[in-house]
Amino acid sequence: MAANYTPMMQQYRDIKSKHPNEILFFRLGDFYEMFFADAELASRELEITLTARDGGQSTRVPMCGVPYHAADNYIAKLISKGYKVAICEQVEDPKSAKGIVRREVIKIITPGTVLSESLLTKNSNNFLAVLLEDGQALNLAAVDISTGECLWATFSGTNKLTDLCDQLFRLMPAELVLVEGLSSEEISTFLQTRLQNCLCTILDNTEIIDINQLPAEHFKTEDLPDDPGAFKAVGYLLYYLHKTLRTDLSHVNRLTKYNSADYLVVDSTTLRNLEITQNMRDGGKKGTLFQVIDFTKTAMGTRLLKRWLEFPLININKIILRQDSIEEFVVRPAMRQEIQEKLANVYDFERILTRIEVGLANARDLNALKASLASLPDIKTVLSSAKTSLLSDINFNIIAQNDIVDLIEKAIVDNPPISVRDGGMIKCGYNAELDQLHQLAYNSKKMVQELEIAERESTGIRSLKVGYNKIFGYYIEVTHTHAEAVPINYIRKQTLANAERFITPELKEFEGKILGAQERIINLEAQLFLELREFLKVKIQELQGIARQIAVLDCVISLSEAAIRYNYVRPNISSDRKIVIKDGRHPVVERLLVNDMFVPNDIELNHVDCEVMVITGPNMAGKSTYMRQVALLTLMAQMGSFIPAREAVIGPVDRIFTRVGASDDLATGQSTFMVEMNEVAQILKNSTANSLIILDEIGRGTSTFDGMSIARAVIEYIKQRIQAKTLFATHYHELTELAEHHSGVSNYSVAVKERGKDVVFLRRIVPGGADKSYGI
Ligand code: ATP
Repeated sequence: MAANYTPMMQQYRDIKSKHPNEILFFRLGDFYEMFFADAELASRELEITLTARDGGQSTRVPMCGVPYHAADNYIAKLISKGYKVAICEQVEDPKSAKGIVRREVIKIITPGTVLSESLLTKNSNNFLAVLLEDGQALNLAAVDISTGECLWATFSGTNKLTDLCDQLFRLMPAELVLVEGLSSEEISTFLQTRLQNCLCTILDNTEIIDINQLPAEHFKTEDLPDDPGAFKAVGYLLYYLHKTLRTDLSHVNRLTKYNSADYLVVDSTTLRNLEITQNMRDGGKKGTLFQVIDFTKTAMGTRLLKRWLEFPLININKIILRQDSIEEFVVRPAMRQEIQEKLANVYDFERILTRIEVGLANARDLNALKASLASLPDIKTVLSSAKTSLLSDINFNIIAQNDIVDLIEKAIVDNPPISVRDGGMIKCGYNAELDQLHQLAYNSKKMVQELEIAERESTGIRSLKVGYNKIFGYYIEVTHTHAEAVPINYIRKQTLANAERFITPELKEFEGKILGAQERIINLEAQLFLELREFLKVKIQELQGIARQIAVLDCVISLSEAAIRYNYVRPNISSDRKIVIKDGRHPVVERLLVNDMFVPNDIELNHVDCEVMVITGPNMAGKSTYMRQVALLTLMAQMGSFIPAREAVIGPVDRIFTRVGASDDLATGQSTFMVEMNEVAQILKNSTANSLIILDEIGRGTSTFDGMSIARAVIEYIKQRIQAKTLFATHYHELTELAEHHSGVSNYSVAVKERGKDVVFLRRIVPGGADKSYGI
C-alpha cells in the first residue's frame, strides 16, 4: 500500500525521483537532510547518526543531516568516495511562501565539476572529459572548470585506441562522461587499471535537444572544432556542465585543439616507466623528474610545468624560445631572484577567477587576488630589461591592474571573515550609506548606555541595568529588592528568580534603530560585495590571460633554478637527426645517491653508424639507468629545459617508447610474457624513423632460446623496417653478433672489473659487447 507522505516528504520524493544517481542534500532550515536509501548510505559513508522522521501516516523515514555551513566538508568526502551530490535549496522566502516552501536542485556536484578548494589539488588540473565514439573516430572533449581550460581531440586510424588512452592518461580526468557507453574492451580495461580514481558516467541523453548548437553559442567561431564528431563531443561537454553546474560558464572561454603532431608523444606506459610526473610506487610526485626540477612558486606555474613535462615540444624554434629565456635567468641571477620573490606573493588567482565567475569567491579570495595583482608592476619592472623574446612577450602581455588593486584595497578589510553573509568585510570610507549605518548603530548603542544612566537617576535604583537577549531584545532589569521603585511606565516582560525585566517605548525605539541598522549593514555589505564581484567578472578573461603569462614565467624560472642548482647545460637543439650527449647523468638517480658519485656517460645515436645500440652487461650494472637517462634527457631537452650533461646535441624525436622493468598489468589477467609481447607489438606498430625506442630485456618471460629469438627478431625488424634510434639492453650476449651483420647496430657494455670472485661495477658504458653472461 502506498504510504501517505507528508507534503514535505512528497516534495522530497518528487525531486529525488529526478535524481536517482545522486545523493540528494535537501535543505531544511539550517540543515541539509537526506532521507531513505540516501540517508542510510550517507550515514555510513560520513559516519553520522542515522535517525528517522515522521514521513506521513504510519511511516518513519530514515534520515540523517549535516549543518549547511559545514556541508562543504561532507560533500568533499562523498565526492572523493566517487558519489555525486545534488544540492536542493529553498528557492523562496519561507516567510512569504504559501504552504510548503518551493525547493529546487540548484547544482549537482561531481568529481569533474568540483570547485571547492578542499577537493582540488593545488598542483594538478581537475579534468572532466567526454568521450564520444562517432563512426570511425574517437572524440574527446575535456575541461578543467577550476581553471577554465578546455580542449578537444579526435583519434582515428589503426592506433586510435592507444592514442586516446595515452591522452586520457596525461589528462588523468577525475570524471569521464561516456556518451554512448563503451564499445571497446581495451578502453574499459585501461580505465580499470590506469584511471582507477576516475568516475565514469554514462550520459542519459534522452532530454537532449540540439547538442550542435551549444559549442557555437559558447565559444568563438575560430576555436570551434572543424570535425563534426569533436564538435558534438564539445556540445555534450557543455550540456553536461550546464546540467550539473547550472551556472554561467563564461570563464571557460578558450577551446584548444590537441594535435599530437605538435608534441613529442610520450605514451602512457613510458610516462609511467620513466616516472616523469608520477612514481610507480603510489602515483605520487616523490622520486619523479617533476619533483627534481620543480622550483615553481605559484600553483599555476606548477600545473603548467607538469603540462610541459607531459607534452614536450617538437618544433625546434619553440624549444629554442624557452631555452633562450631560461638562459637569460641563468646568467642574470639577480633578475631571477627578484622575480621569484614577487612570485611568492602570487596566489592561485586562476582558480580564484573561476570562483568569482560562479559566485563562490569570498572576501579573502578578493584580497588574495589583490595581493597577486599587486606584484605585477614590480614583475614588469624587472622584466623590462629582459633581452629574450619570450620574456619580452610576457612583459608585454602582463598588463598591470592597479585599478583593481586599489578598488579591492579600498573596499575590503585586511582580515575579512570567510562568510559573505555576516558582514564585517567592507572597509570604512568605501560607501557613505554603510558608514552612516555604522554611525547610527554606534550612536544608538551609546544612547542605550545614556538611557541606562538616566533611568538609574530618575528611579534611584543604582543596580538597574539595560541588557539584551535574542528572544526579548533590549530590556531593563531591576532586582526584586527594588520592585517598589519601578515606575509605572515600565512594561513587565519576564520574571527571573531574583529580578524582573521590563521594556519601555523609548527602549524599543532604540532597539528598532540598532537592530534595523545592523540588519541593513549586513545586507548592504553583502550587496556591495556582490557588486564588486560582478564588476570583477568583466575582467576575468583579461586576468586569465595574465595568469597564463605568470605560469610560463614561473616555469621558465623554475627550470633555470634547476639548471643552476644541479649544473645542467643547454643542449644544442638541431635538425640533424641525432642524439649526442657527453657526460650525461640521470637527473633523478644522481639526486638520490648519497654515498656514491654518479658516473656520467656518453651516447651518440644517429642514422649512420649507431642507430641501434645493443647493451650487454651483468644485472645491477646500470643498464636501465643509462637507457632511462637517455630518454629523460631527450624529453627534458624537448620541453626546453637544460639537462644534466657536459654538452649535448639533440635532434627532436617524435615519440619515445620504453619497455622496461616488470609491469603491474598482471591484475588484468595477462601473464608477464603476454604483457611484454603486447607492449613490444604496440611499440613496433606505432614507432617511426624519428622515434626513440628503449627496450630492456625483451624475451625474458619464456625459454632462453625462444626469448633470444624474439629479441633478435625485434632488433632486426627495427633496424630494417623502422630505422628508429634504439637502445636495447639484453643479458643474451649472443645478440652481440648482430652488429656483424647489420651496419648501424653497435655493441656496448657496462664496464666491470673482476676481483677474484667479486665483480665491481664501474657504471661506465663502453664500446664492445660483454663476452659472457653474468648470473648475478
Ligand atoms: P638489471 O639488469 O637488474 O635491471 P641494470 O644493469 O639495469 O640492472 P640499474 O638498475 O640501471 O642496473 O642500476 C642499478 C643501480 O646502480 C641503480 O639503482 C643506481 O643506484 C646504480 N647506478 C646505475 N647507474 C649508475 C651510475 N651511472 N652512477 C652511479 N650509480 C649508478
